[in-house]
Amino acid sequence: MNVGLPADEYDKLRESVFTTIWNELDPLEHQIEDTESIPYDVVLPALRACGAFGLIIPREYGGAGLSIAQYLPILAEFAKIQGGIRAIVHVHNSFAHALSEIGSEEQKQAILPGAAVGEKSLAFALTEPGNGTGMDLSTRARRDGDEYVLDGRKWLITNSDIASHFLVLAKTADREVSAIIVPRDAPGFTIAPLPETMGCKGAEHGELTFTDVRVPAANLVGAEGEGIAHLERALEISRVFIAASSLGTATRALDLSLRFAKERVTFGRPIGERQAIQRYLAEMATDVYALRGMLADVAAKWDRDQRVPAESSLVKQFGLEAVGRVTDRALLVHGGIGYTRKYPIERLYRDARLNWLEEGPPTVQYLVAARQLLDGFTFDDAFDSATR
Ligand SMILES: Cc1cc2nc3c(=O)[nH]c(=O)nc-3n(C[C@H](O)[C@H](O)[C@H](O)COP(=O)(O)OP(=O)(O)OC[C@H]3O[C@@H](n4cnc5c(N)ncnc54)[C@H](O)[C@@H]3O)c2cc1C
Repeated sequence: MNVGLPADEYDKLRESVFTTIWNELDPLEHQIEDTESIPYDVVLPALRACGAFGLIIPREYGGAGLSIAQYLPILAEFAKIQGGIRAIVHVHNSFAHALSEIGSEEQKQAILPGAAVGEKSLAFALTEPGNGTGMDLSTRARRDGDEYVLDGRKWLITNSDIASHFLVLAKTADREVSAIIVPRDAPGFTIAPLPETMGCKGAEHGELTFTDVRVPAANLVGAEGEGIAHLERALEISRVFIAASSLGTATRALDLSLRFAKERVTFGRPIGERQAIQRYLAEMATDVYALRGMLADVAAKWDRDQRVPAESSLVKQFGLEAVGRVTDRALLVHGGIGYTRKYPIERLYRDARLNWLEEGPPTVQYLVAARQLLDGFTFDDAFDSATR
């Protein structure tokens, strides 16, 4: 059972992060969108100072040790502002959290205390240019004495410009995938930028090349061949984080639309008085409300130490569809001016589309959820007993 931080400490931390988000980071939106780069000299110290890098790193390693229920609203708040900043915070926290669950004590001691204060960070390297993921990976890690030798390529790896370590998924045998930590400075390891993205601008999602990269065998996470199991565990909760990001973006789009509907006057009346616009607003609020409920349920289950493979894929899929509908309607409420950069609506629209791809596209979510359902998954009886 993870109860997280005591309420008063949590409130203080949350207040500090929210203040940083709105006072220091949100004003950087136009600069980041114009230059397509994040001013790290401003953003990283601000994130460090408010504690954003240690949010879900356990307290024994210097983090805040938030429960998932405490973390989701903070991540959602990041998803209201420029998306590149949210991507940095999400990937850092998500994979530091994963290491805290699947890493050895030595690996955790080596990385987590630095990660908690934003001096170290772990990027996650799964996706490859030449093939699919899982058993289709072509990156290889060959055991040679007390080392692994890695060869292969990865791409679209978020935080590739700032990560100190990379959790690399590689084949150690024909039907065997393993997870191995590769430090940024390993000889033979090179990182190149990819072209700029549609949204979440400024965050780097680079291409990694491994040519005879040697790392100590102690960098293997878990046992050889356990990579897929680790991947499933890491992605299970990380998909919930993406759904929380969808919630934040959708909530901001709804808030902006409500304000605009009261301000914009046509034919002598605010458009918010028109039934057609009211319908858009009510539909947007329905999506936000439903997503909030699903997230509260899945967070409570995870914090009670329940596994949530079906729920995490379902909420991730619902979240991206919900934020898709909400940002579509927000654009309609705003009319033509919403298509310009006068309001953040067009940016929220673009940023949200990354939620389709992060932690697996829809086809993967359908596959994971359907397998669970066909395997006998049922919703627990909490809803039934709560309504009796
Ligand atoms: C900005 C950004 C940041 C990212 N950050 C990271 C990161 O940090 N680490 C990381 O490892 N990856 C990262 N990714 C990669 C992301 O997770 C993948 O793009 C996503 O999972 C889809 O994989 P793919 O690009 O290889 O698409 P593909 O596998 O080529 O899929 C293309 C289409 O085919 C469908 N498809 C593919 N195979 C099948 C199948 N077997 N059955 C049915 N449908 C199929 C897919 O659903 C999709 O619609 C990032 C991507 C982006 C855009």
